[in-house]
Amino acid sequence: MFDLDKSAQLWARARRVTPGGVHSPVRAFAGVGGVPPFIESGSRACLTDVDGNDYIDFCLSWGPLVFGHSDPDIAAAACAAIARGTSFGAAEAVSLELAELIVRQIPWVEKIRFVNSGTEAVMSALRIARAATGRNKILKFDGCYHGHVDSMLVRAGSAMADMAVPASAGIPAETAANTLVAPLDDLPAIERTFAAHKNAIAAVIVEPVPANFGLLVQRDGYLRQLAAIVRAHGALLIFDEVISGFRLAFGGAAEMFGIEPDLVTYGKIIGGGFPVGAYGGRANLLDLVAPQGDVYQAGTLSANPVAMRAGLAALKKLLRDKPHAGLDSKTAWLADSLTAAAARSADVSVRVQYCGSLFWIVIGGDPVSVDPVRTPAGIPPGHKERFGKLFHALLEAGCYLPPSAFEVGFISTVHTDPQLQALVEAFSAALVKL
Ligand code: PMP
Repeated sequence: MFDLDKSAQLWARARRVTPGGVHSPVRAFAGVGGVPPFIESGSRACLTDVDGNDYIDFCLSWGPLVFGHSDPDIAAAACAAIARGTSFGAAEAVSLELAELIVRQIPWVEKIRFVNSGTEAVMSALRIARAATGRNKILKFDGCYHGHVDSMLVRAGSAMADMAVPASAGIPAETAANTLVAPLDDLPAIERTFAAHKNAIAAVIVEPVPANFGLLVQRDGYLRQLAAIVRAHGALLIFDEVISGFRLAFGGAAEMFGIEPDLVTYGKIIGGGFPVGAYGGRANLLDLVAPQGDVYQAGTLSANPVAMRAGLAALKKLLRDKPHAGLDSKTAWLADSLTAAAARSADVSVRVQYCGSLFWIVIGGDPVSVDPVRTPAGIPPGHKERFGKLFHALLEAGCYLPPSAFEVGFISTVHTDPQLQALVEAFSAALVKL
């Protein structure tokens, strides 16, 4: 019998001492309802909760675990690092090795600085863009999420997709006024925004594959045209590759699409499951950062040696094993099989959008043959409610999807064919309940 009794008890305790009982909003299952399982352990592609329920994990800590839970190479590297000291707050050579590896592999990253999260990476990249251009405004896209830095919490995705408000409370109007928001899938809107704010836009920041309000697949050529518009107006192009970096290809979406951003932000995979973020780009831009330049950015635990060793192990393993083609074909098989299973169920229209090893199940709306969903506005009515039902049916069947209708699923190198098949079977059975 599936039950979450111990999780429910822990959650009640946790809510007394922590907002929502969690340390990051989506973990509280607000978008799907019900009790969040409290996880006790993870191994390869599986999670086990405190009630002893096992799940095949399609959330994977929201993306960092491209090799699954407790990968032996990454774990060994981290344990060895701990034995040598957990933090120095001084110059060391582990971060040098990781920086050299990235700079060697990714031509548009001429210099890189490590921070502790994707949010910090974005915050710092925006600061550089403003300093480099002498302009204040940043253009972002409706539905793209760039962490919880004040200026980016306007029409963001991630857990904010489930909130009723367009922007977070607690952000001064003066700050929000410097954030311009454009719709995805609408290049003329970008032109109009640049025309309306002549020489005021420092940078355009985009998730090159938007993956925080569902997986909003853009049209062929979209990014290339966007890049051309941004450059024509003397602004910088920032790719937020916190999700897509090292996942869609080693060089992320920029490598996949062959477009070089001026600045790029990383997180997730770069830390091998430890808290690491990074920003990088052209040397002349990174040279603006302290102590070389006047753009201040610092961190007590930045380039933490344990996290750096873990990240180095993860990135070396990516270069050694070259898993991207395999990840992509597994994901394509999964998405196509889910779509086919849904097509056999006459009552509900389901499409599975995917890119690389990211996938997103969209429920409702027009039949599968129409265009993909490319904007938040294009998400079919009723998707969220139906996803909630599907999510819980899958959870009870032992498949842990991201607990939100607007978050994407992740595939790792250690998901086996029977595990993918298990999701397809659980999904087929669950469709009946929709
Ligand atoms: N940018 C993107 C594209 C993200 O998906 C996220 C987090 N999911 C962030 C930035 C923020 O990263 P972090 O949660 O590490 O602060």
